[in-house]
Amino acid sequence: MTATVPDKLEVTSPVTGDVVGIHHVHDADDVRAAVATAREWAQWWSDLGFANRRDVLDKWRGVLARRAAQLAEVVHQETGKPHGDAMLEVALAVDHLAWAAKHADKVLGRRKVSSGLLMANQAATVEYLPLGVIGVIGPWNYPVFTPMGSIAYALAAGNAVVFKPSELTPGVGVWLADALSEVVPDQGLFQVVTGYGETGAALCRAGVDKLAFTGSPATGRTIMAACAETLTPVLIEAGGKDALIVADDADVVAAADAAAWGAFANAGQTCTGVERVYVHEKVYDEFLSELTRRARELHAGGDPSAKIGPMTLPGQVDVARRHIEDAIARGGRAVVGGPEAVQGRYIQPTVLVDVPEDSLAVTAETFAPTVTVAKVRSNDEAVALANHTSYGLGATVFSRKKGMDLAARIRSGMTAINGVISFAGIPELPFGGIGESGFGRIHGPDGLKEFTYAKAIARQRMKPAIALTTFDRTEKAEQTMATLINVLHGGATQLPKLSRKDRRA
Ligand code: NAD
Repeated sequence: MTATVPDKLEVTSPVTGDVVGIHHVHDADDVRAAVATAREWAQWWSDLGFANRRDVLDKWRGVLARRAAQLAEVVHQETGKPHGDAMLEVALAVDHLAWAAKHADKVLGRRKVSSGLLMANQAATVEYLPLGVIGVIGPWNYPVFTPMGSIAYALAAGNAVVFKPSELTPGVGVWLADALSEVVPDQGLFQVVTGYGETGAALCRAGVDKLAFTGSPATGRTIMAACAETLTPVLIEAGGKDALIVADDADVVAAADAAAWGAFANAGQTCTGVERVYVHEKVYDEFLSELTRRARELHAGGDPSAKIGPMTLPGQVDVARRHIEDAIARGGRAVVGGPEAVQGRYIQPTVLVDVPEDSLAVTAETFAPTVTVAKVRSNDEAVALANHTSYGLGATVFSRKKGMDLAARIRSGMTAINGVISFAGIPELPFGGIGESGFGRIHGPDGLKEFTYAKAIARQRMKPAIALTTFDRTEKAEQTMATLINVLHGGATQLPKLSRKDRRA
């Protein structure tokens, strides 16, 4: 830990500027000690088995649900987001915890698999065992929902967790761990280490068995490099530049409503927020007028009627301003908002049109309540433009009849049809991206398996009819094996007969 890192972390409310918490800055020794404690608890937790672990996690869920308003208040204080938005993320996180606890046994427990004909004398099983200690590094924009996507699933899979929350939201992390301590007194199963990037870097090097990171692609690269030193596997949930497609047969009013919420909710600080909209020319004018009307009805502020809160990270204000100014300098127009929409920590909803596809507002994550809207000549053009990005996190399609077809052609980890960001609230669906948006999955069966390793066991049930894995293998056994393999797989060498039509296709 360098001398320039302060030893106290002071958190101020983005709304009032008041100090809302002072936390310890954990150094590399503290982090190593937390991981060592977690390792002791990991064994106990793993030995408890699925049913007992579920019991503990269900009790923790009960505490979170009963005190949801209190937790939402901590989220509001640290991020500035409206209370209702904070409640939404708490509710979704609790639901994920319930799903992970309930389904861990079925998804990960030991099950028999076929041993095949050549190894018919064997009984084969597969099960998914906990890795041990999982390091989780989280962001500030959804300080409960996002890290719980790793924490809940890692715990349900039988691991202990050491969590490094964002320096902007350490109180949320501490609150979550304290709530578990009410169920398991003095627990070291889920610990929180608070601090800046240095604390996170120390966690990468503290001997964890996997590191689950959510944050920007740039930090993701640094984390991968640190974890590479010890071959520690990583899960990267990074940013996005999600597109919403409005097809020619879309319910335009519903699409505009979803675009407004997807772009402006949480002040646009959502990894799967809508940042680009591609609208079929047939419905463009109607869509733009609906979106514009909705955007004008909203305002960002600290008053109770404001549905949009402040920018949590002060530096993000400059990013948004740069993207808006760049779009306008390159021929774009702001039909709502614009450069004057940036007012201190608040950014009023901004709708940009005629923005060149190579400008910052279209290519880079803005993470603010701004959205670009472009007219396209066909649904195919919309898909091509939506896919023209280095990111690949989420996407949205509005179409009455072609939703499935269009959704399947979008290169993204998740896609919502006729709704927005809905996939994040469905516990059984995997969540994660491709490209610059990262790799690995949280949520659902994939999310549980992400924090385990597959364990294969082959048990000999009887002596084999033909002994293959011995130096005593006979010539007859080899002939039988050759005959068997030919009978089983020889037909596959026949070339399939293709018709002329098939060949042309
Ligand atoms: P960030 O990358 O700045 O920080 C994320 C975390 O990494 C913080 O806890 C930070 O302290 C820590 N960190 C910083 N430097 C580190 C280092 N060298 N080593 C280890 N840890 C380090 O991101 P942020 O500003 O907190 O979050 C915003 C970003 O997160 C956006 O890009 C957003 O799209 C993304 N995000 C993605 C998802 C998703 O699920 N894909 C969800 C929410 C947010």
